[in-house]
Amino acid sequence: MTQNPASMIDPFGRMVEYLRVSVTDRCDFRCVYCMAEDMTFLPKKELLTLEELERLCTVFVQKGVRKLRLTGGEPLVRRGVMQLIENLGKLLDGGGLDELTLTTNGSQLAKYADQLVGAGVKRINVSIDTLDEDKFAKITRWGRLPQVMTGLEAAKKAGLQVKINAVALKEVNEHEIETMLKWAHGEGFDFTLIETMPLGEIDEDRTDQYLPLSTVRERLEANYSLADIPYKTGGPARYVKVKETGGRLGFITPMTHNFCESCNRVRLTCTGTLYMCLGQDDAADLRGPLRESEGNELVAQAIDEAILRKPKGHDFIIGRNSAPSVSRHMSTTGG
Ligand code: SAM
Ligand code: SF4
Repeated sequence: MTQNPASMIDPFGRMVEYLRVSVTDRCDFRCVYCMAEDMTFLPKKELLTLEELERLCTVFVQKGVRKLRLTGGEPLVRRGVMQLIENLGKLLDGGGLDELTLTTNGSQLAKYADQLVGAGVKRINVSIDTLDEDKFAKITRWGRLPQVMTGLEAAKKAGLQVKINAVALKEVNEHEIETMLKWAHGEGFDFTLIETMPLGEIDEDRTDQYLPLSTVRERLEANYSLADIPYKTGGPARYVKVKETGGRLGFITPMTHNFCESCNRVRLTCTGTLYMCLGQDDAADLRGPLRESEGNELVAQAIDEAILRKPKGHDFIIGRNSAPSVSRHMSTTGG
């Protein structure tokens, strides 16, 4: 393949081909590891319009982004988001984009699964940390498991490939991981575990929540044969094949195993701020250059300058009484 002359290559030689877009910081859940119960959200007037978000995404695709993931907050609660998804889906047909996908809590899937497929979405990530209804309500505070299960059914019926993401939480779901693995693989879903990251102030102490995936893997290996496989989705997960279930299990280990050396991602927020790393504070404003000119030259220039500042990696630490490594919540930058 010939290289796009406008390609984004960072100072460490990593090519940026993956953009995650937080289309809203709002959500219909309040997961305990993600948000405080009493969250203050951005004033609506600070948000980019959906047209502006589309324009920014298009510039990124022109500059070599091949994979777009919409996230949030909950992407499917932003009003009018399907129109954005449909418009971005048009970039899949020879417009330079290889994949359009989203990460969702599943609450709105019953409503949108068919339309997502119609827009060209093939795979989605759905976040579920437990299969126990009461525990689900406790973890998400506002979420209800049956609604998500109905959404998953709709996704399956519509033909979407589903990956279940679960944050491994000490004492909360640590003894349920095997049950979830069997359930996910039984349903034909991939299953990925995530280590909790120190992003934003929450109501609880993260030291109490943090469960290293090295421990989880060791425990699973007592009952299952896990074989490392080279499967890649463009994201940070490392996958194994579980012999007994025949399914794929992913590990996202920002804490125990830093995955930054192969990072190909940048993140755009709903206010047009570009973060070059999930775990660092440095950011570039794209809203200013976007609004300053009808053409895209200023934005393209701002993106180029930002990519040159992409840091080598994050410096996450979880310690008792330590402040979060970065002050913004995962819902701001998008997971
Ligand atoms: N609302 C959607 C959802 O829950 O899938 C998309 C946004 S959410 C911020 C994206 C992912 O980030 C979810 O899988 C969630 O579990 C994860 N997440 C949120 N806060 C996290 C944290 N502090 N550490 C690790 N993962 C986190
Ligand atoms: Fe909402 Fe997702 Fe954060 Fe849960 S993890 S509060 S569903 S944004």
